Amino acid sequence: MTLDVDRIRKDFPILGTEMRGRPLTYLDSGASAQKPKAVIDAMSDFYSARYANIHRGVYQLSADATRDYEAVRGKVARFIGAKDEREIVFVRNATEAINLVARTWGEVNVGEGDEIVLTWMEHHANIVPWQMLADRKGATIRVAEIDDDGVLDVHHLASLLGPRTKLLAVTHVSNALGTINPVAELVALAKEHGVTTLVDGAQAVPHQPVDVDAIGADFYAFSGHKVFGPSGAGVLHGRYPLLDAMPPFLGGGDMIEVVSFDGTTFAPVPQKFEAGTPDIASVIGFGAAIDYLDGIGMDAIAAYEHELLEYATAGLDTVPGLRIVGRAKEKAAVLSFVLEDAHPHDIGTCLDGEGVAIRAGHHCAQPLMQRVGVPATARASLAFYNTREDIDRLVDALVKTAELFS
Ligand code: PLP
Repeated sequence: MTLDVDRIRKDFPILGTEMRGRPLTYLDSGASAQKPKAVIDAMSDFYSARYANIHRGVYQLSADATRDYEAVRGKVARFIGAKDEREIVFVRNATEAINLVARTWGEVNVGEGDEIVLTWMEHHANIVPWQMLADRKGATIRVAEIDDDGVLDVHHLASLLGPRTKLLAVTHVSNALGTINPVAELVALAKEHGVTTLVDGAQAVPHQPVDVDAIGADFYAFSGHKVFGPSGAGVLHGRYPLLDAMPPFLGGGDMIEVVSFDGTTFAPVPQKFEAGTPDIASVIGFGAAIDYLDGIGMDAIAAYEHELLEYATAGLDTVPGLRIVGRAKEKAAVLSFVLEDAHPHDIGTCLDGEGVAIRAGHHCAQPLMQRVGVPATARASLAFYNTREDIDRLVDALVKTAELFS
């Protein structure tokens, strides 16, 4: 399937700019995606002509802002296949979504001697909140193995699920390897053992159609800024009965029903989890990002990015001394690599000089780096606005870098 990428690129003002005197080649969408003008305009319009706080004003402006904000909840629900828009909780980002679950569901459901199952390929956002919970409760973290290609060992994961397991928290797509995990299968396995599930969808939602209903996880978390929306708006999807039974996260305005010094009752889901004034403009901008993506189609985006991944993989394999880290068959358009004799930070700096923006480091996945036996990697992460020319520039810059360090 082909996209009209030349037209699409014109929708992203930053892609027409230069870096270091060369056309910007932006290959760090895994860290944060660039924004189409539709998103920038939606936020600017909101601030210019329609801004007010939500949920509390009786005047027109506030009622309109509330309607626009709440409309995005419905859009998100449709976009990810959620059946009930009350299951969409707005948070700042995936990190906050996961911490919310750890601090609320975890607080009442995980106890001493219980186990939480993670995998070696988790982002720190899906490790540290569980470690903090485990420390508070005297619970244990168990970690499912991956193989040398970066593929999850499902049999090993299944062997970790037992009577003490309370939670399986797993990434949908690895940010450092690109591996796409069979999350529906993993959730089904966990369900057989009565285990609650959380899927970290931060790297999946921007690149492929996601259907949380089909996946069946109890919780699904992601960040709007990676889905071509602004920073400051993220999503926790939770199954209604769980959200309803969970204690609140933060306390304050907007999340209450009645407050008195004799006691407070809480608002229904999802307001119970949305204390204080949210990042209203970012949610509005995120709604515009969803409209924009709907206009292109996530199936078409996934197909295009897959072609680009194959092209990029073949290109990187021609660079002398370069080794791709992560070669799963089911893989998103993320290319982690190391180069003989060059530290990933040196690679990043050399590429920067050529106008090519990539990421270098541990990618907030230090346990994974230990598992694959490198301190860091360089990473190119693609999006539907990238082109074969971007990949050619990456490969040319890498060949130069390899020569410099040989
Ligand atoms: N999970 C994964 C797989 C990620 O790649 C990231 C960010 O890179 C996160 C979670 C955390 O996202 P955020 O920093 O937006 O909370």
